[in-house]
Amino acid sequence: MIVAEQKKLEEMKTLIGEAEKVLVVGCGTCVTVCFAGGAREAAITATSLRMSSKLEGQPKQVRDVTVQRQCEWEYLDQIKDEIKEADVVLSLGCGIGVQAIAEHYPDVWVVPGLNTTFLGLPTEQGVWAERCAACGDCVLGLTGGICPIARCSKSLLNGPCGGSEAGHCEIDPDVPCAWQLIYDRLSSMNKLHVLMDLQPPKNWSTSRDGGPRKIVRQDLRLIEDEE
Ligand code: SF4
Ligand code: SF4
Repeated sequence: MIVAEQKKLEEMKTLIGEAEKVLVVGCGTCVTVCFAGGAREAAITATSLRMSSKLEGQPKQVRDVTVQRQCEWEYLDQIKDEIKEADVVLSLGCGIGVQAIAEHYPDVWVVPGLNTTFLGLPTEQGVWAERCAACGDCVLGLTGGICPIARCSKSLLNGPCGGSEAGHCEIDPDVPCAWQLIYDRLSSMNKLHVLMDLQPPKNWSTSRDGGPRKIVRQDLRLIEDEE
């Protein structure tokens, strides 16, 4: 899932600026699960903005609405009336949701209420940890299902840096060394030989180095090729 955190109220207020009619838009998917931008957080944020603007003597009209997913046009269509009435939209979706609103409603000023942080999973109640950096050429089949790109602090692909101590990364004793995890897992599964196979250099063009990425469904690609 995409993991995000709310911006501080002061930053949201700065982004909203002088706008009088504010629409806070929550998203019912990833950011609901990480308690950053679901219906509950959208309602609390709207209340905080209303109270704060009133206390400052310049009350704003702040409404909130939550869609199932901000990153799909169909769901954004459902709130077109609310969006068109607003001077500014404060999106509590991830960065994709903010951009989806801006693209779908080009005349509307939209600002982010969250900092989109990483792709991760909840490891325990209230704790999320990074697990994938969306490199576009997954190597988990070689590393026992542990990602060296997202979980090694240096994103090393050819083994540990040599700085780990007692299984912990040299950047922080609370961070497990990804390469220790990889070694231990392959060892426990009797698959250490996987590490001995020579691998070609990783193709980073599938990651951010290749520019903005796009996936076209295979059947649509075939139709394009035929035309
Ligand atoms: S190897 Fe790439 S795609 Fe696979 S988990 Fe790591 S970053 Fe994600
Ligand atoms: S100690 Fe381990 S996780 Fe940390 S940078 Fe070195 S190899 Fe990567």
